[in-house]
Amino acid sequence: MTRPRLVFFSDLDGTLLDHDTYDWSAAKPALEKLELEGLPVVLNSSKTAPEIQALRRALGNTDPYIVENGAAVIIPPAYFDSAAPRDSEKSSDKDEIIKFGAPRSELLKVLAELRQDGYSFESFEDMTAEEVAQHTGLPPESARLAKQRLATEPLLWRDQEIDIPFFRKALEQRGLRLVRGGRFQHVMGAFDKAESMQMLMKRYRALYSGEKLISVALGDGPNDRRMLEQADIAIVIKSAGPEPLRLPDQHRVMYSGKKGPEGWNECVLTILAGEGY
Ligand SMILES: [Mg+2]
Repeated sequence: MTRPRLVFFSDLDGTLLDHDTYDWSAAKPALEKLELEGLPVVLNSSKTAPEIQALRRALGNTDPYIVENGAAVIIPPAYFDSAAPRDSEKSSDKDEIIKFGAPRSELLKVLAELRQDGYSFESFEDMTAEEVAQHTGLPPESARLAKQRLATEPLLWRDQEIDIPFFRKALEQRGLRLVRGGRFQHVMGAFDKAESMQMLMKRYRALYSGEKLISVALGDGPNDRRMLEQADIAIVIKSAGPEPLRLPDQHRVMYSGKKGPEGWNECVLTILAGEGY
């Protein structure tokens, strides 16, 4: 019996990347094994397209990727063209971009209104690249990329915690959501990492029709919950935050013993060894 083909979807901060240093080198053995076996690794993060592009280059990753918590899916040219070989003359050079969210300008308009109503917060739009660098620990160049956003807005709450539910409600009345990430609260539309994962799985199923495909999702935070719950196999990476993520018992789930890229490496190697599915 042939083994099912695995398709990996991975969060970045606190999952493939160390929460504090953004280093991924501890995951190298697993990444090399995935590359060797030709298994896709779809990066699925709250980070922006230019940030993820920079990381893909560093990783040598050529698979599709999901930006800003599912705001858009970006597919490299001819990636899902199974029939034609990758012919650079014939295929277009342009990425295919599928957007799920309303444009950021609409989001910022709503945030300006809520600020007038008395809510106090500081979003990436209000910060210089240097300030984003301070809050995230990112180098200034990366912080500049983090400000180039499509459809989501990270913010720091500048009021009492007790007021957050009212803010959330006000956003919901305007068709928006507030999702907690590792460092920031993210204001976004009614899309998420899970929806984009399922859309790409459909494309992979069409590409590898006749084969059994298994989605494997890796994440550490509340914004990964739905992606983890909807994947065939969930790998919960031990969080650097105060609240560990727990999934429903009936789910096929693996919990890493170590945090960040070390946990990523450990769990992916276990899965590739054929254990856990
Ligand atoms: Mg994370």
